[in-house]
Amino acid sequence: MTESLTRILIVDDANIERMKLKGYLGKRGFEIIEAANGAEGVDQYIKQHPDLILMDVNMPVMNGYDAIRQIRLQESKMMTPILILTADDDLVAIDQAFEAGANDFFPKPINYPLLHKRIRYALRDAARERELMRITGLQETARILAGLAFWEVDMKTQEMRWSDDASDLLHWIDELPNSFESGMQIIHPDDRQRMIRIFEDAAKTGAKFELEVRSPAQKQDHILKIVGQHNIAQGLFVGAIQDVSSQRRLEHQVNYLAFHDATTGLPNRKLFLRDLEESIELSTRNKSQVIVGVIELIRFQQITETYGVDVADQLLINLVSQLRSEQLPNTFIARMDGGVFVWRTLLDTDNNDERISAEINWWLAQLNRSWMLGDRETYLTFTAGVAIGPRHSSSASELLGMAHRTQRLQKPTANVTLGFYTDSKDDGLQSRLQMESDLRMAVTEKQFYLVYQPQIDLSSDRVVGVEALLRWRHPQGESVPPFRFIPILEEMGLISELGDWILEEACRQQVEWTTEGYPLRMGVNLSPIQFDQADLPAQIQAIVIKTAIVPQQLELEITESLAMHNPEATIETLHQLREMGFKIAIDDFGIGFSSLEYLLRFPIDTLKIDRAFVKDITRGRSDRAIVRALTSLCQGLGLTTIAEGVETQRQRDYIDALGATEIQGYLISPPLEPKALINLIKNL
Ligand code: C2E
Ligand code: CA
Ligand code: CA
Repeated sequence: MTESLTRILIVDDANIERMKLKGYLGKRGFEIIEAANGAEGVDQYIKQHPDLILMDVNMPVMNGYDAIRQIRLQESKMMTPILILTADDDLVAIDQAFEAGANDFFPKPINYPLLHKRIRYALRDAARERELMRITGLQETARILAGLAFWEVDMKTQEMRWSDDASDLLHWIDELPNSFESGMQIIHPDDRQRMIRIFEDAAKTGAKFELEVRSPAQKQDHILKIVGQHNIAQGLFVGAIQDVSSQRRLEHQVNYLAFHDATTGLPNRKLFLRDLEESIELSTRNKSQVIVGVIELIRFQQITETYGVDVADQLLINLVSQLRSEQLPNTFIARMDGGVFVWRTLLDTDNNDERISAEINWWLAQLNRSWMLGDRETYLTFTAGVAIGPRHSSSASELLGMAHRTQRLQKPTANVTLGFYTDSKDDGLQSRLQMESDLRMAVTEKQFYLVYQPQIDLSSDRVVGVEALLRWRHPQGESVPPFRFIPILEEMGLISELGDWILEEACRQQVEWTTEGYPLRMGVNLSPIQFDQADLPAQIQAIVIKTAIVPQQLELEITESLAMHNPEATIETLHQLREMGFKIAIDDFGIGFSSLEYLLRFPIDTLKIDRAFVKDITRGRSDRAIVRALTSLCQGLGLTTIAEGVETQRQRDYIDALGATEIQGYLISPPLEPKALINLIKNL
């Protein structure tokens, strides 16, 4: 601040005094403003904003003290230096002057050179104070806005010093580090090397640096932004430190939200496609396969409208957690929109299509259970479509499109209906139409046959029953798994015709075995469509008469979901069938939300515990207490419990301990052709 620009306001009612002062100070480069009394002085102060004020005490209109008070009221902070010029240097007057807000006083008659000196001191102090306030004001603002503190390291002594607010900023640190060495200790170990490298580099070059490091705290790491520079001339490393944790977390959150669905927390379509591109690239390189699937919860919109967004959201969350609870390996699930989900699974090429569809079917079968909609329990319908990369396409979006189109083409025939993308290049089963014409042919040409899977009674370790499972010997290839063609047969309306044949063939086989000395209980699966037929009991009755099977030897398997669709009608039909002497089994029974109450209401003989459930038991994931309760309830009701899909001895042991009566699964045997089955029994 140069004196030539400094303006001094002189407030004095004595003209001569003002003239003398103006003359003297004017010559020394000050710009002078004059006022003849206190009131005028306040006025001038407001208008001109002088850098310093010389104030007489005794004046008409308004005295000096009052004028000072008025001026100070105008200021937010005491800043303009005011010197009182007083003839009476008695202590009372001086006291009063300070009290009013004067910075200093100066006796009259005036010693001009001395006054000049005092003026310069006052101006210098004021400038300093202003600068200090500017700095502290900035610091304050910066700290509030960004959590900023300053540090310096003396390169000679290695001593580290901090600004006052540093301890607030680094509140999770007990004691501020006093050396570079100890400063390192507040940094996350994984970030130290990087930090040292950057500091060393900056020490040599004197270049500005900026880095972010983590500082471990009790709950979670803080993220510190450190900027600094080595002032080589002064031998000082100086810089600032800022806690950017919340910003980074927010950015992370924003980033997260851009790639994730807020409701389910699943990745969204964008992230899915990004991952899929990488997966396809990888699978092209290492010759593996990428399965891309789309699954839609049908009528999701309607559910949302009926039950509200909260219930619908909760349902989606439950769906996702179910899908994740028994996830296929190397699988990535994402949400598209509404009730549509996508997934991709990485598979080795030695998985043939049959195996692939078996795995996917098994995985999606988890959705085949009841769900809560608010306090209502219901079954839901899903359709799914699958395409395989890079076979069908090596473009992520194209592959997804293929899977999606396939999904949309599916007509729901079960709770979960799955379709596979087929194109002309796809060998094997060419297209849906081809499949349909093949199936029509298969029905008329009797390309179907049954295989039988043994069921072992745990207490006697003997085969007491079998389940008949349908196979199709496709003329162009080997056998096609049932889940690939049964839904289509159902849709084509051919299942009843075939179902009759299945029943008849199974009964014929049972009677044949009985006459050979193997009276095995015969389990036959009923399709929901068959079950809905009004004349089902009559049809079965006709078959019984034709084959002469003992009704007690025929066990009809219906799925739990089927039974739940229309419980009243189901109960009615089941009663009829039981009165005719047939046994009834509930297939694929999962615990889920299914209330045990239904068990009591349905007239049944056997409960088949679903494979997914068996798998869970040894993993300790499902609640064994529930299984325990279930099996003991069944015991109490005199029901048979068959655990399905028992593959290992360990699973068998658990099942046994939990009180199931029978097991079925690969541990004993896969489904076999009749001869092979009898051989197995003979060798047991
Ligand atoms: P499901 O009634 O639950 O039949 C059991 C399925 O699990 C059979 O598959 C069987 O081969 C398989 N399985 C048996 N033990 C194990 C094991 O230890 N591990 C594994 N991973 N799987 C095991 P399959 O024969 O492919 O039949 C699939 C489904 O097709 C059946 O499920 C049933 O819903 C349907 N299905 C099969 N045959 C018929 C039929 O004649 N009529 C009707 N309506 N549906 C049938
Ligand atoms: Ca079954
Ligand atoms: Ca089953």
